[in-house]
Amino acid sequence: MALDTLDFAVLFALAVAVVAYFAKDQIFGSGNANEKGFLSNTGSSGSSRDLVEVLKKNNKNTVLFYGSQTGTAEDYASKLLKELASRFGLKCLTADLADYDYDTLDTISNDVLVFFLMATYGEGEPTDNAVEFYDYLQNDADQLATLKYTVFGLGNSTYEFYNAIGKNVFEKLESLGSESFAPYGEGDDGKGTMDEDFLAWKEKVFDALKNDLNFEEHDLTYEPAIEIIPMDKDVNDETVSYGEPSAKYLDPTYNASRGPFDHSHPYIAPIATTTELFHSKDRSCVHAEFDISGSNLRYSTGDHLAIWPSNSDENIKLFAKAFNVESKLNDVFKIKALDSTYSIPFHTPITYGAVIRHHLEISGAISRQFLSSIANFSPSPEIKKEVTKLANDKLLFAKEVTSQQLDVADLLLKLSNGQPWTQIPFEFVIETIPHLQARYYSISSSSLTEKTSIHVTAVVEAETHHNKKVGGVVTNLLKNLEIEQNNEKSEPFLHYDLKGPRGKFSNFKLPVHVRRSTFKLPSNPSIPIILIGPGTGIAPMRGFVRERVTLKKNDPSVTIGETFVFYGCRTRDEDYLYKNEWPEYAKALGDSFQMEVAFSREDPTKKVYVQDKLLAHQLKLNELLDKGAYIYVCGDASRMARDVQKTLGSILAKGRNITEEKAAELIRSFKVQNRYQEDVW
Ligand code: FAD
Repeated sequence: MALDTLDFAVLFALAVAVVAYFAKDQIFGSGNANEKGFLSNTGSSGSSRDLVEVLKKNNKNTVLFYGSQTGTAEDYASKLLKELASRFGLKCLTADLADYDYDTLDTISNDVLVFFLMATYGEGEPTDNAVEFYDYLQNDADQLATLKYTVFGLGNSTYEFYNAIGKNVFEKLESLGSESFAPYGEGDDGKGTMDEDFLAWKEKVFDALKNDLNFEEHDLTYEPAIEIIPMDKDVNDETVSYGEPSAKYLDPTYNASRGPFDHSHPYIAPIATTTELFHSKDRSCVHAEFDISGSNLRYSTGDHLAIWPSNSDENIKLFAKAFNVESKLNDVFKIKALDSTYSIPFHTPITYGAVIRHHLEISGAISRQFLSSIANFSPSPEIKKEVTKLANDKLLFAKEVTSQQLDVADLLLKLSNGQPWTQIPFEFVIETIPHLQARYYSISSSSLTEKTSIHVTAVVEAETHHNKKVGGVVTNLLKNLEIEQNNEKSEPFLHYDLKGPRGKFSNFKLPVHVRRSTFKLPSNPSIPIILIGPGTGIAPMRGFVRERVTLKKNDPSVTIGETFVFYGCRTRDEDYLYKNEWPEYAKALGDSFQMEVAFSREDPTKKVYVQDKLLAHQLKLNELLDKGAYIYVCGDASRMARDVQKTLGSILAKGRNITEEKAAELIRSFKVQNRYQEDVW
């Protein structure tokens, strides 16, 4: 059958549509493997997942693997890479552990140095991106005799399994026949010494490189891995990023409610309501309800909501001044990777302003390490001398920088007497300043009660320190939004662009994704639960209680186990979260519900904490534990979680007439059985 003109026209149109469909991926990035965080997980160096092949192909002799949850291990890896390359001429590659397969690791050349920067997460678990590698090491690895390695663990000594992953990786590699070229090191977030611990370990690594491996050491100089290429593009050009949270949001045809939503692509969720739960001199608390109806974002009770941040106008202004880009905020550029293994961290073309507002962690404490790297860009020899002195003197740095709560822009401008640092290339800024990470919040709603809404409860810290505003990024963003949404008269502590890139966050929206958590109610609702959540630790407990209330409401014949809530705050009139809701829950659950509140600042002669309330109810707690109760602890990891565990240990010891050691063992076994769950930060 012959084709007529109409057939040809239809075929041609189809062909154009097919070409356009695939070209769209090029334009909007879904096929570009070199842009991290925006695209599929194709490895940091092209599409190969074979480390040995990638090292060979790119002529590398050093790899820095990171197992990172909040970005610190990743940040350390990229900073260490710069130093190893500059000081020792090593040809380095940073590598996300999730980007590689490990079946060829036993063929790695013994000329290659392998660094593992391993964070421990939660109860001695590997970070999400290290799960597969850790599993391989424990179960599949045979002999790794040619692997030359060292490990730095990132952990928190207030957790029971302090640095478990770093230690286990080091020991496991040793038992597999690998040779460590430098000693194991570890950093302690619990004591706030992570940066200093890392610096001390780095010195030992450098000593080993010089003395044992005979590498020559040179002065630290900056060698860029990227080049900024200015573009003559109109900022209205739809391929230019204004800080859209992922490249898909640059595609006008993208169905924004479809997902999947995860750490590389958030849902821009409308915020239905925000409420101020309390306000005191230095703190306040925002309750926010994210509307997920119409999207396929899902959660289950006990999960975490990750909120994607952007920086405040105040911080951006200072940062742009310090780094001399005030006049360039609307200029467009793209990035050329000079090293084929460098992952460009965000979509380009982009404006300078968008990079600073949406991609860089510009506020927050700084490290001595950063100061060393910036010395060579000092505006004058005198300032360089000052910078070097601060970078080399731990105590002076603590006094002059850390205790003054200076962030990077504050410090640079203080050192230069308010003058911009004109010699710092923006390439250095992109490579050296950590990239903004989403902040997690324990979800305070129940997925049974609120199927299409996610609640969070965020405490906002904002204080003026030495005439400088010091405040958290996301919490002050939520506070600014809450003030605007409720037409409040008060002035926000920090001001944000609430409309977002191309107005995408207008009418009160923020980018979010859900992180699955193991903090879960027992599947059988008749099991008693003990919920211990002082401060914002009450957030997931509220979700649990709401869930039980709804279960009861939906089916009054269902047996709901006892629910004993322990909450703590300063005073009943200052910061008692959800004060009006608890009587409703008590009414709905009847005798099976009990709540005790510890007020730490009501009695001037004695501070009362949740631990005191636990002790006061030890008979009841032992009775519930005998009935198989599950224990849940949420909130401050640094002291509360440890003290609560110790108190519960004493209660168990007394109740069961066993030693404290036996009771501690029992708690450990509860943890293994998921009868003792923690959600602490
Ligand atoms: P950031 O910008 O991260 O700053 C952190 C702190 O540093 C702030 O107090 C800030 O004032 C201070 N700071 C800023 N600049 C400096 C400086 N130059 N020097 C020294 N200090 C400085 N939080 C909740 O409120 N509710 C929850 O339910 C909750 N759940 C969580 C669940 C999990 C699993 C985790 C990991 C954390 C949870 N958090 C929760 C904590 C939350 O993720 C954030 O860490 C917290 O809200 C602060 O985020 P931010 O962006 O506002 O502050």
